[in-house]
Amino acid sequence: MHNPTSANPLSATSVTASVQERFADGANHIAGRLTKGTSGRTHAVVDPATGAEVYTYELAGTDDVDAAVAAARAAFPGWSGLTPGERSDAMHRFAAVLDEWAEEFARFESLQCGKPIKLSREFDVPGTVDNTAFFAGAARHLQGQSAGEYSGDHTSYVRREPIGVVGSIAPWNYPLQMAAWKVLPAIAAGNTIVLKPAELTPFTSLLFAEAAVAAGLPEGVVNVVTGAGRDAGEHLVGHPDVAMTSFTGSTGVGKRVAEIATATVKRLHLELGGKAPFLVFDDADLDAAVHGAVAGALINTGQDCTAATRAYVQRPLYDAFVEKTAALMETVRLGDPFAEDTDLGPLISHVHRDRVAGFVDRARAYARVVTGGEAPDHPGAYYKPTLIADAPQDSEIVQSEIFGPVLVVLPFDSDDEGIALANDTPYGLAASAWSTNVFRANRATREIKAGCVWVNDHIPILSEMPHGGYKASGFGKDMSAYSFEEYTQVKHVMFDNTAVVRKDWHRTVFGDR
Ligand code: NAD
Repeated sequence: MHNPTSANPLSATSVTASVQERFADGANHIAGRLTKGTSGRTHAVVDPATGAEVYTYELAGTDDVDAAVAAARAAFPGWSGLTPGERSDAMHRFAAVLDEWAEEFARFESLQCGKPIKLSREFDVPGTVDNTAFFAGAARHLQGQSAGEYSGDHTSYVRREPIGVVGSIAPWNYPLQMAAWKVLPAIAAGNTIVLKPAELTPFTSLLFAEAAVAAGLPEGVVNVVTGAGRDAGEHLVGHPDVAMTSFTGSTGVGKRVAEIATATVKRLHLELGGKAPFLVFDDADLDAAVHGAVAGALINTGQDCTAATRAYVQRPLYDAFVEKTAALMETVRLGDPFAEDTDLGPLISHVHRDRVAGFVDRARAYARVVTGGEAPDHPGAYYKPTLIADAPQDSEIVQSEIFGPVLVVLPFDSDDEGIALANDTPYGLAASAWSTNVFRANRATREIKAGCVWVNDHIPILSEMPHGGYKASGFGKDMSAYSFEEYTQVKHVMFDNTAVVRKDWHRTVFGDR
Protein backbone atom coordinates (compact mmCIF):
# COMPACT_ATOMS: atom_id res chain seq x y z
CA MET A 1 0.00 0.00 0.00
CA HIS A 2 1.09 3.48 -0.83
CA ASN A 3 1.48 5.83 2.13
CA PRO A 4 0.73 9.40 1.19
CA THR A 5 3.52 11.76 2.06
CA SER A 6 1.75 15.05 1.43
CA ALA A 7 0.22 16.80 4.41
CA ASN A 8 -3.50 16.31 3.85
CA PRO A 9 -6.09 18.40 5.67
CA LEU A 10 -8.86 16.17 4.33
CA SER A 11 -9.77 12.92 6.01
CA ALA A 12 -12.55 10.35 6.05
CA THR A 13 -13.25 11.39 9.65
CA SER A 14 -13.99 15.01 8.77
CA VAL A 15 -16.13 14.06 5.76
CA THR A 16 -18.01 11.50 7.87
CA ALA A 17 -18.93 14.25 10.33
CA SER A 18 -20.21 16.37 7.42
CA VAL A 19 -22.49 13.64 6.03
CA GLN A 20 -23.85 12.79 9.46
CA GLU A 21 -24.75 16.42 10.02
CA ARG A 22 -26.07 17.02 6.50
CA PHE A 23 -28.37 13.97 6.44
CA ALA A 24 -29.36 13.87 10.13
CA ASP A 25 -33.02 14.09 9.08
CA GLY A 26 -32.94 10.97 6.93
CA ALA A 27 -31.94 9.52 3.57
CA ASN A 28 -35.05 10.32 1.54
CA HIS A 29 -35.68 13.63 -0.15
CA ILE A 30 -39.41 13.97 -0.74
CA ALA A 31 -41.23 17.15 -1.75
CA GLY A 32 -38.20 19.27 -0.95
CA ARG A 33 -37.23 17.92 2.45
CA LEU A 34 -35.31 15.09 4.03
CA THR A 35 -37.36 12.35 5.67
CA LYS A 36 -36.56 9.10 7.44
CA GLY A 37 -37.50 5.81 5.80
CA THR A 38 -40.38 3.82 7.27
CA SER A 39 -39.52 0.26 6.15
CA GLY A 40 -38.57 -0.66 9.73
CA ARG A 41 -35.09 -1.68 8.57
CA THR A 42 -31.81 0.22 8.73
CA HIS A 43 -28.72 0.23 6.56
CA ALA A 44 -25.19 1.23 7.54
CA VAL A 45 -23.08 2.97 4.89
CA VAL A 46 -19.53 1.72 5.28
CA ASP A 47 -16.37 3.54 4.17
CA PRO A 48 -14.82 0.84 1.95
CA ALA A 49 -11.35 2.28 2.48
CA THR A 50 -11.42 1.57 6.22
CA GLY A 51 -14.39 -0.70 6.93
CA ALA A 52 -15.76 1.91 9.36
CA GLU A 53 -19.49 2.60 9.52
CA VAL A 54 -20.08 6.22 8.59
CA TYR A 55 -23.86 6.68 8.53
CA THR A 56 -26.78 4.49 9.54
CA TYR A 57 -30.21 5.31 8.19
CA GLU A 58 -33.76 3.97 8.04
CA LEU A 59 -34.39 2.39 4.64
CA ALA A 60 -37.30 3.62 2.55
CA GLY A 61 -40.25 1.27 2.28
CA THR A 62 -43.29 1.18 0.05
CA ASP A 63 -45.03 4.02 1.92
CA ASP A 64 -42.07 6.29 1.30
CA VAL A 65 -42.13 5.41 -2.39
CA ASP A 66 -45.84 6.21 -2.48
CA ALA A 67 -45.18 9.59 -0.82
CA ALA A 68 -42.39 10.40 -3.29
CA VAL A 69 -44.51 9.42 -6.29
CA ALA A 70 -47.38 11.55 -4.95
CA ALA A 71 -45.00 14.52 -4.57
CA ALA A 72 -43.71 14.04 -8.11
CA ARG A 73 -47.26 13.75 -9.41
CA ALA A 74 -48.31 16.93 -7.63
CA ALA A 75 -45.34 18.82 -9.05
CA PHE A 76 -45.92 17.60 -12.62
CA PRO A 77 -48.60 20.06 -13.85
CA GLY A 78 -46.63 23.12 -12.71
CA TRP A 79 -43.25 21.92 -13.97
CA SER A 80 -44.48 20.58 -17.29
CA GLY A 81 -46.52 23.75 -17.75
CA LEU A 82 -43.46 26.01 -17.71
CA THR A 83 -42.11 27.21 -21.01
CA PRO A 84 -38.94 25.48 -22.21
CA GLY A 85 -37.13 28.75 -21.56
CA GLU A 86 -38.29 28.85 -17.94
CA ARG A 87 -37.20 25.22 -17.36
CA SER A 88 -33.92 26.00 -19.04
CA ASP A 89 -33.30 29.00 -16.76
CA ALA A 90 -34.01 26.87 -13.68
CA MET A 91 -31.59 24.22 -14.89
CA HIS A 92 -28.85 26.77 -15.59
CA ARG A 93 -29.23 27.90 -11.97
CA PHE A 94 -29.07 24.21 -10.95
CA ALA A 95 -25.75 23.87 -12.81
CA ALA A 96 -24.43 26.95 -11.01
CA VAL A 97 -25.34 25.54 -7.56
CA LEU A 98 -23.72 22.19 -8.40
CA ASP A 99 -20.58 24.02 -9.42
CA GLU A 100 -20.62 26.05 -6.19
CA TRP A 101 -21.01 22.87 -4.11
CA ALA A 102 -18.45 20.94 -6.20
CA GLU A 103 -15.98 20.25 -3.39
CA GLU A 104 -18.70 18.92 -1.06
CA PHE A 105 -19.98 16.64 -3.85
CA ALA A 106 -16.45 15.34 -4.49
CA ARG A 107 -15.84 14.57 -0.81
CA PHE A 108 -19.17 12.80 -0.29
CA GLU A 109 -18.66 10.76 -3.45
CA SER A 110 -15.17 9.72 -2.39
CA LEU A 111 -16.30 8.77 1.10
CA GLN A 112 -19.17 6.53 0.06
CA CYS A 113 -17.41 4.90 -2.93
CA GLY A 114 -13.77 4.96 -1.84
CA LYS A 115 -12.95 6.84 -5.07
CA PRO A 116 -9.67 8.73 -5.21
CA ILE A 117 -10.50 12.37 -4.59
CA LYS A 118 -8.78 13.36 -7.85
CA LEU A 119 -11.24 11.17 -9.78
CA SER A 120 -14.27 12.68 -8.00
CA ARG A 121 -12.95 16.22 -8.48
CA GLU A 122 -11.80 15.88 -12.08
CA PHE A 123 -14.35 13.48 -13.56
CA ASP A 124 -17.55 12.81 -11.60
CA VAL A 125 -18.34 16.33 -10.43
CA PRO A 126 -17.35 18.45 -13.45
CA GLY A 127 -19.00 15.88 -15.71
CA THR A 128 -22.23 16.33 -13.77
CA VAL A 129 -22.05 20.13 -13.90
CA ASP A 130 -21.46 19.95 -17.65
CA ASN A 131 -24.35 17.53 -18.11
CA THR A 132 -26.65 19.87 -16.23
CA ALA A 133 -25.60 22.81 -18.40
CA PHE A 134 -26.08 20.66 -21.51
CA PHE A 135 -29.65 19.68 -20.58
CA ALA A 136 -30.44 23.27 -19.58
CA GLY A 137 -29.65 24.13 -23.22
CA ALA A 138 -31.36 21.04 -24.62
CA ALA A 139 -34.60 22.00 -22.84
CA ARG A 140 -35.05 24.70 -25.50
CA HIS A 141 -34.20 22.46 -28.44
CA LEU A 142 -36.70 19.62 -28.64
CA GLN A 143 -36.94 18.66 -32.29
CA GLY A 144 -40.16 17.48 -33.97
CA GLN A 145 -41.04 16.45 -37.49
CA SER A 146 -41.96 19.55 -39.44
CA ALA A 147 -45.60 20.55 -39.77
CA GLY A 148 -47.27 20.22 -43.17
CA GLU A 149 -50.27 19.37 -45.32
CA TYR A 150 -49.49 15.70 -45.94
CA SER A 151 -53.02 14.71 -47.12
CA GLY A 152 -53.66 17.97 -48.89
CA ASP A 153 -56.78 18.57 -46.76
CA HIS A 154 -55.23 18.59 -43.30
CA THR A 155 -52.42 20.23 -41.42
CA SER A 156 -50.42 17.79 -39.30
CA TYR A 157 -47.76 18.45 -36.72
CA VAL A 158 -45.98 16.62 -33.98
CA ARG A 159 -45.99 17.55 -30.32
CA ARG A 160 -43.33 16.14 -28.04
CA GLU A 161 -44.76 15.89 -24.56
CA PRO A 162 -43.36 14.82 -21.23
CA ILE A 163 -44.40 11.37 -20.07
CA GLY A 164 -45.28 12.09 -16.43
CA VAL A 165 -43.60 10.72 -13.31
CA VAL A 166 -40.38 8.86 -14.09
CA GLY A 167 -39.10 6.22 -11.65
CA SER A 168 -35.34 5.73 -11.88
CA ILE A 169 -33.02 3.24 -10.25
CA ALA A 170 -29.26 3.77 -10.13
CA PRO A 171 -26.18 1.70 -9.22
CA TRP A 172 -23.37 2.47 -6.77
CA ASN A 173 -20.37 2.80 -9.07
CA TYR A 174 -20.86 6.43 -10.18
CA PRO A 175 -23.73 7.48 -7.92
CA LEU A 176 -23.62 11.19 -8.77
CA GLN A 177 -23.24 10.80 -12.51
CA MET A 178 -25.85 8.06 -12.67
CA ALA A 179 -28.30 10.27 -10.74
CA ALA A 180 -27.56 13.11 -13.15
CA TRP A 181 -27.92 10.94 -16.26
CA LYS A 182 -31.36 9.85 -15.06
CA VAL A 183 -32.70 13.09 -13.62
CA LEU A 184 -31.51 15.71 -16.13
CA PRO A 185 -33.06 14.59 -19.43
CA ALA A 186 -36.25 13.66 -17.57
CA ILE A 187 -36.77 17.08 -15.97
CA ALA A 188 -35.50 19.04 -18.97
CA ALA A 189 -38.35 17.49 -20.95
CA GLY A 190 -40.90 18.50 -18.27
CA ASN A 191 -41.22 15.22 -16.35
CA THR A 192 -40.85 14.90 -12.60
CA ILE A 193 -38.85 12.09 -11.04
CA VAL A 194 -38.37 9.69 -8.16
CA LEU A 195 -34.82 8.35 -8.04
CA LYS A 196 -33.75 5.33 -6.02
CA PRO A 197 -29.98 5.28 -5.53
CA ALA A 198 -28.17 2.13 -4.41
CA GLU A 199 -28.44 1.57 -0.66
CA LEU A 200 -24.63 1.70 -0.35
CA THR A 201 -24.28 5.19 -1.83
CA PRO A 202 -27.09 7.65 -0.99
CA PHE A 203 -25.14 10.85 -0.22
CA THR A 204 -24.57 12.54 -3.55
CA SER A 205 -28.05 11.72 -4.88
CA LEU A 206 -29.52 13.38 -1.80
CA LEU A 207 -27.20 16.37 -2.19
CA PHE A 208 -28.17 16.57 -5.87
CA ALA A 209 -31.86 16.82 -4.90
CA GLU A 210 -31.00 19.49 -2.31
CA ALA A 211 -29.06 21.45 -4.92
CA ALA A 212 -32.11 21.35 -7.20
CA VAL A 213 -34.23 22.91 -4.47
CA ALA A 214 -31.50 25.44 -3.63
CA ALA A 215 -31.49 26.43 -7.31
CA GLY A 216 -35.21 27.15 -7.13
CA LEU A 217 -36.63 24.05 -8.84
CA PRO A 218 -40.09 23.49 -7.38
CA GLU A 219 -40.33 20.98 -4.56
CA GLY A 220 -41.35 17.55 -5.77
CA VAL A 221 -39.69 17.83 -9.19
CA VAL A 222 -36.70 15.77 -7.98
CA ASN A 223 -37.32 13.20 -5.21
CA VAL A 224 -34.99 10.56 -3.80
CA VAL A 225 -35.94 7.40 -1.91
CA THR A 226 -33.15 5.26 -0.52
CA GLY A 227 -34.42 1.75 -0.05
CA ALA A 228 -33.64 -1.83 -0.91
CA GLY A 229 -34.03 -3.03 -4.50
CA ARG A 230 -36.48 -5.84 -3.80
CA ASP A 231 -38.65 -3.62 -1.66
CA ALA A 232 -38.60 0.09 -2.57
CA GLY A 233 -37.10 -0.60 -6.03
CA GLU A 234 -39.70 -3.09 -7.19
CA HIS A 235 -42.51 -0.98 -5.72
CA LEU A 236 -41.28 2.03 -7.71
CA VAL A 237 -41.04 0.06 -10.96
CA GLY A 238 -44.53 -1.41 -10.57
CA HIS A 239 -46.17 1.78 -9.29
CA PRO A 240 -49.33 2.63 -11.28
CA ASP A 241 -48.62 6.37 -11.14
CA VAL A 242 -45.12 5.98 -12.59
CA ALA A 243 -45.19 6.29 -16.37
CA MET A 244 -41.61 5.36 -17.19
CA THR A 245 -38.86 3.26 -15.62
CA SER A 246 -35.26 4.09 -16.28
CA PHE A 247 -32.79 1.64 -14.78
CA THR A 248 -29.01 1.42 -14.66
CA GLY A 249 -27.49 -1.65 -13.09
CA SER A 250 -26.65 -5.27 -13.73
CA THR A 251 -28.19 -7.29 -16.55
CA GLY A 252 -29.67 -9.78 -14.06
CA VAL A 253 -31.58 -7.14 -12.10
CA GLY A 254 -32.46 -5.36 -15.36
CA LYS A 255 -34.34 -8.46 -16.50
CA ARG A 256 -36.38 -8.48 -13.29
CA VAL A 257 -37.09 -4.74 -13.67
CA ALA A 258 -38.20 -5.33 -17.26
CA GLU A 259 -40.66 -8.02 -16.16
CA ILE A 260 -42.30 -5.73 -13.62
CA ALA A 261 -42.35 -2.69 -15.90
CA THR A 262 -43.81 -4.73 -18.75
CA ALA A 263 -46.65 -5.95 -16.56
CA THR A 264 -47.70 -2.32 -16.06
CA VAL A 265 -46.93 -1.28 -19.70
CA LYS A 266 -44.36 1.36 -18.91
CA ARG A 267 -41.82 3.07 -21.10
CA LEU A 268 -38.55 1.31 -20.28
CA HIS A 269 -34.94 2.40 -20.48
CA LEU A 270 -32.26 -0.12 -19.46
CA GLU A 271 -28.53 0.58 -19.09
CA LEU A 272 -26.99 -2.75 -18.10
CA GLY A 273 -23.69 -4.55 -17.69
CA GLY A 274 -20.65 -4.56 -19.95
CA LYS A 275 -17.50 -6.50 -20.76
CA ALA A 276 -15.70 -4.13 -23.11
CA PRO A 277 -13.13 -5.52 -25.56
CA PHE A 278 -9.88 -3.64 -26.22
CA LEU A 279 -8.63 -4.66 -29.67
CA VAL A 280 -4.96 -4.00 -30.45
CA PHE A 281 -3.89 -4.50 -34.07
CA ASP A 282 -0.24 -5.15 -34.88
CA ASP A 283 0.30 -1.65 -36.32
CA ALA A 284 -0.88 0.05 -33.10
CA ASP A 285 1.30 2.43 -31.11
CA LEU A 286 2.18 -0.12 -28.42
CA ASP A 287 2.94 2.37 -25.64
CA ALA A 288 -0.28 4.27 -26.28
CA ALA A 289 -2.23 1.00 -26.16
CA VAL A 290 -0.53 -0.07 -22.91
CA HIS A 291 -1.29 3.27 -21.23
CA GLY A 292 -4.86 3.16 -22.57
CA ALA A 293 -5.35 -0.38 -21.30
CA VAL A 294 -4.15 0.33 -17.77
CA ALA A 295 -6.20 3.54 -17.48
CA GLY A 296 -9.23 1.96 -19.16
CA ALA A 297 -9.13 -1.15 -16.98
CA LEU A 298 -8.43 0.51 -13.64
CA ILE A 299 -10.55 3.65 -13.70
CA ASN A 300 -12.82 3.66 -10.65
CA THR A 301 -11.05 0.44 -9.56
CA GLY A 302 -12.50 -1.26 -12.64
CA GLN A 303 -16.05 -0.66 -11.41
CA ASP A 304 -17.04 0.95 -14.68
CA CYS A 305 -19.54 -0.58 -17.09
CA THR A 306 -17.35 0.51 -20.04
CA ALA A 307 -14.00 -0.46 -18.48
CA ALA A 308 -11.50 -2.26 -20.69
CA THR A 309 -11.80 -5.85 -19.53
CA ARG A 310 -10.70 -8.06 -22.44
CA ALA A 311 -7.55 -7.01 -24.34
CA TYR A 312 -7.15 -8.88 -27.63
CA VAL A 313 -3.65 -8.25 -28.95
CA GLN A 314 -2.42 -9.31 -32.38
CA ARG A 315 0.29 -11.94 -32.04
CA PRO A 316 3.38 -9.80 -32.99
CA LEU A 317 2.65 -7.33 -30.15
CA TYR A 318 1.28 -9.82 -27.62
CA ASP A 319 4.31 -10.62 -25.44
CA ALA A 320 5.49 -7.01 -25.26
CA PHE A 321 1.94 -5.84 -24.43
CA VAL A 322 1.66 -8.31 -21.55
CA GLU A 323 5.05 -7.37 -20.13
CA LYS A 324 4.59 -3.59 -20.40
CA THR A 325 0.99 -3.62 -19.14
CA ALA A 326 1.97 -5.62 -16.05
CA ALA A 327 4.88 -3.26 -15.39
CA LEU A 328 2.67 -0.17 -15.67
CA MET A 329 -0.03 -1.74 -13.46
CA GLU A 330 2.59 -2.29 -10.77
CA THR A 331 3.28 1.48 -10.58
CA VAL A 332 -0.34 2.32 -9.68
CA ARG A 333 -0.58 3.65 -6.11
CA LEU A 334 -3.32 2.16 -3.92
CA GLY A 335 -4.14 4.27 -0.91
CA ASP A 336 -6.33 6.62 1.08
CA PRO A 337 -9.02 8.02 -1.25
CA PHE A 338 -8.55 11.44 0.34
CA ALA A 339 -4.82 11.62 -0.43
CA GLU A 340 -4.18 13.68 -3.55
CA ASP A 341 -1.57 11.20 -4.79
CA THR A 342 -3.70 8.05 -4.53
CA ASP A 343 -4.43 6.47 -7.91
CA LEU A 344 -6.61 3.55 -6.92
CA GLY A 345 -9.14 3.26 -4.13
CA PRO A 346 -10.78 0.17 -2.70
CA LEU A 347 -13.67 -1.73 -4.24
CA ILE A 348 -17.14 -0.70 -3.09
CA SER A 349 -17.36 -3.28 -0.29
CA HIS A 350 -15.65 -6.27 1.24
CA VAL A 351 -18.38 -8.50 -0.18
CA HIS A 352 -17.65 -7.22 -3.67
CA ARG A 353 -13.87 -7.51 -3.11
CA ASP A 354 -14.35 -11.18 -2.20
CA ARG A 355 -16.48 -11.68 -5.31
CA VAL A 356 -13.72 -10.21 -7.51
CA ALA A 357 -11.10 -12.34 -5.73
CA GLY A 358 -13.29 -15.40 -6.35
CA PHE A 359 -13.21 -14.84 -10.12
CA VAL A 360 -9.42 -14.54 -10.08
CA ASP A 361 -8.92 -17.53 -7.78
CA ARG A 362 -11.07 -19.75 -9.99
CA ALA A 363 -9.15 -18.55 -13.08
CA ARG A 364 -5.84 -19.83 -11.64
CA ALA A 365 -6.95 -23.32 -12.64
CA TYR A 366 -6.87 -22.46 -16.36
CA ALA A 367 -4.99 -19.16 -16.79
CA ARG A 368 -1.85 -17.32 -15.68
CA VAL A 369 -1.99 -14.43 -13.20
CA VAL A 370 0.76 -12.15 -14.52
CA THR A 371 0.52 -9.55 -11.77
CA GLY A 372 -1.78 -8.78 -8.84
CA GLY A 373 -4.31 -11.45 -7.98
CA GLU A 374 -4.44 -10.65 -4.28
CA ALA A 375 -5.69 -8.18 -1.72
CA PRO A 376 -3.04 -6.10 0.06
CA ASP A 377 -2.74 -6.48 3.81
CA HIS A 378 -5.15 -3.68 4.73
CA PRO A 379 -8.53 -3.42 6.50
CA GLY A 380 -10.11 -1.68 3.47
CA ALA A 381 -11.71 -3.50 0.52
CA TYR A 382 -8.61 -3.10 -1.67
CA TYR A 383 -7.53 -5.44 -4.46
CA LYS A 384 -4.33 -5.18 -6.45
CA PRO A 385 -4.43 -4.35 -10.19
CA THR A 386 -4.51 -7.72 -11.87
CA LEU A 387 -3.48 -8.93 -15.31
CA ILE A 388 -4.47 -12.40 -16.45
CA ALA A 389 -3.12 -14.13 -19.56
CA ASP A 390 -3.70 -17.43 -21.38
CA ALA A 391 -7.38 -17.81 -20.47
CA PRO A 392 -9.62 -19.59 -22.99
CA GLN A 393 -12.17 -17.37 -24.76
CA ASP A 394 -15.10 -19.33 -23.32
CA SER A 395 -13.85 -19.20 -19.71
CA GLU A 396 -15.66 -17.39 -16.92
CA ILE A 397 -12.96 -14.72 -16.53
CA VAL A 398 -13.33 -13.74 -20.22
CA GLN A 399 -17.12 -13.97 -20.44
CA SER A 400 -18.47 -12.61 -17.10
CA GLU A 401 -18.60 -9.06 -15.83
CA ILE A 402 -16.14 -8.94 -12.90
CA PHE A 403 -16.40 -5.21 -12.08
CA GLY A 404 -12.96 -4.96 -10.52
CA PRO A 405 -9.36 -4.02 -11.40
CA VAL A 406 -8.86 -7.11 -13.55
CA LEU A 407 -7.77 -7.13 -17.21
CA VAL A 408 -7.61 -10.34 -19.23
CA VAL A 409 -5.31 -10.42 -22.26
CA LEU A 410 -5.61 -12.86 -25.16
CA PRO A 411 -3.74 -13.12 -28.51
CA PHE A 412 -5.29 -13.18 -31.98
CA ASP A 413 -3.92 -13.75 -35.49
CA SER A 414 -6.11 -12.39 -38.30
CA ASP A 415 -8.20 -9.20 -38.19
CA ASP A 416 -11.31 -11.33 -38.78
CA GLU A 417 -10.52 -13.38 -35.69
CA GLY A 418 -9.88 -10.31 -33.52
CA ILE A 419 -13.21 -8.73 -34.43
CA ALA A 420 -15.07 -12.02 -33.94
CA LEU A 421 -13.53 -12.45 -30.47
CA ALA A 422 -14.37 -8.86 -29.54
CA ASN A 423 -18.04 -9.59 -30.36
CA ASP A 424 -18.06 -12.93 -28.55
CA THR A 425 -19.82 -12.13 -25.23
CA PRO A 426 -23.48 -11.41 -24.49
CA TYR A 427 -22.63 -7.74 -23.81
CA GLY A 428 -22.30 -4.77 -26.17
CA LEU A 429 -21.82 -1.55 -24.23
CA ALA A 430 -18.43 -0.23 -25.34
CA ALA A 431 -15.22 -1.25 -27.12
CA SER A 432 -12.00 0.23 -28.43
CA ALA A 433 -9.79 -0.44 -31.44
CA TRP A 434 -6.10 0.46 -31.50
CA SER A 435 -4.43 0.91 -34.89
CA THR A 436 -2.54 3.47 -36.96
CA ASN A 437 -4.21 2.15 -40.12
CA VAL A 438 -7.39 4.09 -40.77
CA PHE A 439 -8.97 1.28 -42.82
CA ARG A 440 -8.52 -1.33 -40.11
CA ALA A 441 -9.74 1.01 -37.40
CA ASN A 442 -12.72 2.03 -39.47
CA ARG A 443 -13.64 -1.61 -40.14
CA ALA A 444 -13.55 -2.30 -36.40
CA THR A 445 -15.89 0.61 -35.68
CA ARG A 446 -18.38 -0.78 -38.20
CA GLU A 447 -18.23 -4.43 -37.19
CA ILE A 448 -17.97 -4.31 -33.41
CA LYS A 449 -21.44 -4.61 -31.90
CA ALA A 450 -21.38 -2.02 -29.13
CA GLY A 451 -23.03 1.29 -28.33
CA CYS A 452 -19.67 3.09 -28.35
CA VAL A 453 -16.43 2.30 -30.15
CA TRP A 454 -13.36 4.39 -29.39
CA VAL A 455 -10.35 4.48 -31.69
CA ASN A 456 -6.96 4.85 -29.96
CA ASP A 457 -8.58 5.74 -26.64
CA HIS A 458 -10.90 4.09 -24.13
CA ILE A 459 -13.28 5.68 -21.57
CA PRO A 460 -13.90 9.38 -22.45
CA ILE A 461 -17.56 10.40 -22.50
CA LEU A 462 -19.27 13.61 -23.56
CA SER A 463 -22.55 15.28 -22.65
CA GLU A 464 -23.30 15.76 -26.37
CA MET A 465 -22.83 12.09 -27.32
CA PRO A 466 -25.07 9.12 -26.43
CA HIS A 467 -24.09 6.38 -23.99
CA GLY A 468 -25.95 3.08 -24.07
CA GLY A 469 -25.78 -0.55 -25.00
CA TYR A 470 -26.34 -3.14 -27.68
CA LYS A 471 -27.29 -6.76 -26.89
CA ALA A 472 -27.46 -7.72 -23.18
CA SER A 473 -26.10 -4.28 -22.23
CA GLY A 474 -29.62 -2.94 -22.65
CA PHE A 475 -31.36 -0.32 -24.71
CA GLY A 476 -31.95 3.38 -24.44
CA LYS A 477 -29.38 6.15 -24.39
CA ASP A 478 -28.06 8.32 -21.59
CA MET A 479 -26.75 11.85 -22.19
CA SER A 480 -27.10 13.70 -25.54
CA ALA A 481 -30.22 14.67 -27.47
CA TYR A 482 -31.01 10.96 -27.88
CA SER A 483 -31.62 10.52 -24.16
CA PHE A 484 -33.69 13.71 -24.05
CA GLU A 485 -36.01 12.28 -26.68
CA GLU A 486 -36.52 9.07 -24.69
CA TYR A 487 -38.11 11.05 -21.89
CA THR A 488 -40.80 12.47 -24.20
CA GLN A 489 -43.71 10.95 -26.03
CA VAL A 490 -44.72 11.91 -29.52
CA LYS A 491 -48.22 13.05 -30.39
CA HIS A 492 -49.60 13.55 -33.91
CA VAL A 493 -52.00 16.50 -34.09
CA MET A 494 -54.16 16.71 -37.27
CA PHE A 495 -56.42 19.61 -38.27
CA ASP A 496 -59.06 19.41 -40.98
CA ASN A 497 -58.62 22.38 -43.32
CA THR A 498 -61.78 21.99 -45.48
CA ALA A 499 -64.82 22.42 -43.16
CA VAL A 500 -66.59 19.93 -45.49
CA VAL A 501 -69.43 18.02 -43.76
CA ARG A 502 -69.48 14.93 -45.98
CA LYS A 503 -65.87 14.09 -46.66
CA ASP A 504 -64.78 11.91 -49.54
CA TRP A 505 -63.45 9.15 -47.32
CA HIS A 506 -66.83 8.78 -45.51
CA ARG A 507 -68.07 6.63 -48.42
CA THR A 508 -65.96 3.78 -47.10
CA VAL A 509 -68.40 3.76 -44.16
CA PHE A 510 -71.73 4.95 -45.62
CA GLY A 511 -73.22 5.80 -49.04
CA ASP A 512 -71.65 6.07 -52.54
CA ARG A 513 -69.44 8.69 -54.08
P1 NAD B 1 -27.47 -3.90 -9.34
O1 NAD B 1 -28.19 -4.35 -10.56
O2 NAD B 1 -27.19 -4.87 -8.28
O3 NAD B 1 -28.28 -2.72 -8.63
C1 NAD B 1 -28.64 -1.54 -9.32
C2 NAD B 1 -29.80 -0.86 -8.61
O4 NAD B 1 -30.93 -1.73 -8.68
C3 NAD B 1 -29.57 -0.60 -7.12
O5 NAD B 1 -30.16 0.65 -6.80
C4 NAD B 1 -30.34 -1.73 -6.45
O6 NAD B 1 -30.81 -1.40 -5.16
C5 NAD B 1 -31.50 -1.89 -7.41
N1 NAD B 1 -32.16 -3.19 -7.37
C6 NAD B 1 -31.65 -4.39 -6.98
N2 NAD B 1 -32.58 -5.36 -7.09
C7 NAD B 1 -33.71 -4.76 -7.56
C8 NAD B 1 -35.01 -5.23 -7.89
N3 NAD B 1 -35.34 -6.51 -7.75
N4 NAD B 1 -35.91 -4.34 -8.35
C9 NAD B 1 -35.60 -3.04 -8.51
N5 NAD B 1 -34.38 -2.53 -8.21
C10 NAD B 1 -33.44 -3.39 -7.75
O7 NAD B 1 -26.15 -3.19 -9.88
P2 NAD B 1 -24.97 -2.58 -9.01
O8 NAD B 1 -24.21 -3.72 -8.43
O9 NAD B 1 -25.49 -1.50 -8.13
O10 NAD B 1 -24.11 -1.86 -10.16
C11 NAD B 1 -23.21 -2.51 -10.97
C12 NAD B 1 -23.86 -2.87 -12.30
O11 NAD B 1 -24.36 -1.71 -12.95
C13 NAD B 1 -22.87 -3.49 -13.28
O12 NAD B 1 -23.48 -4.57 -13.94
C14 NAD B 1 -22.62 -2.35 -14.26
O13 NAD B 1 -22.16 -2.75 -15.53
C15 NAD B 1 -23.94 -1.70 -14.32
N6 NAD B 1 -23.82 -0.31 -14.81
C16 NAD B 1 -24.23 -0.05 -16.09
C17 NAD B 1 -24.11 1.24 -16.60
C18 NAD B 1 -24.55 1.56 -18.00
O14 NAD B 1 -24.60 2.74 -18.33
N7 NAD B 1 -24.88 0.59 -18.82
C19 NAD B 1 -23.57 2.25 -15.80
C20 NAD B 1 -23.15 1.94 -14.51
C21 NAD B 1 -23.30 0.65 -14.01
